[in-house]
Amino acid sequence: MAEKQLRVEVEQPAKPALPKRVSYSQMSLYQQCGLKYFFSYIDSWREPPTSALAGGSITHEVVEYLYRLEPAERTVENALALLREHGPRMLKQTEYLPFVDDIKMKHSVREAVENLFKVENPPEVVVQPEHLEMELNVVINGVNFFGKVDRFTVDGVNRVTDYKTGKSPGRFIDDKLAQPYLYALGFKTQYDIDVDEVELIFLNAQEVVRRPADIGLVTSMGEQLATMRANSERDVAESAWDARVSRLCDYCAFQKVCPARNPDAPQPGSTLCDTQLSEAGLLHK
Ligand code: SF4
Repeated sequence: MAEKQLRVEVEQPAKPALPKRVSYSQMSLYQQCGLKYFFSYIDSWREPPTSALAGGSITHEVVEYLYRLEPAERTVENALALLREHGPRMLKQTEYLPFVDDIKMKHSVREAVENLFKVENPPEVVVQPEHLEMELNVVINGVNFFGKVDRFTVDGVNRVTDYKTGKSPGRFIDDKLAQPYLYALGFKTQYDIDVDEVELIFLNAQEVVRRPADIGLVTSMGEQLATMRANSERDVAESAWDARVSRLCDYCAFQKVCPARNPDAPQPGSTLCDTQLSEAGLLHK
C-alpha cells in the first residue's frame, strides 16, 4: 500500500515503447510503483543484481534438476551434488560474479535445498519433466502474457507450485499468491486446464501455503493485468507516471533520482538523471 502517490512528468525516449509481452513481475512492479516501471521498462535501466537474486536463481536451478531425476534418485545427497555442480557454474555468469565469495548467500542456498526435504518428500512428488519450468505464452484479456511456472503437478489435484527463497511472507502472503493465481488463469486460457490449487513453497522459511484456485481471485488477476496494461499505455501517452512511496522505496535503485523521495532529483529520463544513474553504477539493458 502506497503511503504517498505523486504524478511525475518524465522525459521519455523519442519513441517510447512498452514491452510487447507482460509478465507477472512486470505487472507487480507497475502496481508497486509506476515510476519504477518507467525507469526499468521505458528508460531501460537495469537494477543491479542482488545476492538474493543470485541465491534464488541457483536454488531454482537445483530444485528443477532434482525433479528431473527419477523419484528414487531425489535424495538430499543428490540435491547437494547438484548444488555443487550448478552453483559454481551459475556464479560464473557475469551478473552473478560479484557474489562468487558470498558465504552468507551460499549458506542460504544450501539451507533452502536441504529444507525442501523437510517441507515435502521429493520421491513422492508426481511430476512430469515437461511440467517443470513450463512456459506460458498466451493472450489474456487482450494482453500478451508470458510466464514460467516452476512446477505443475497432477495427482488427483491440478496444482501450480512456485518456490520462494528468503524470509517468510507473513502478512504479505496474499500479495505473493497473486502470481500463482495469474498462472492458473494462464493455464486455463492457454491449455484449457482447470487448476484446482495454487501452492507456494517458502524454502528458507519452511512454509508451504496452499489455497484453492478460487475462480473469483483467478479472474481478478486477468482484470488486473488488463488494467495494468491500459494504465501503462495511458502513462506513455501522457509522459507521466505515478511514483508510489512505500516501505519498498528503501530497496529501490532509483530512489536518489526519484522526485517523490528526493525534492532535488532531476527530471526522470533527462540527461542529468541518466548521468546520476550511470554514476551510481546502473547500466542500460
Ligand atoms: S523510490 Fe519509491 S516512489 Fe521512487 S521510484 Fe523507487 S519505488 Fe517508486
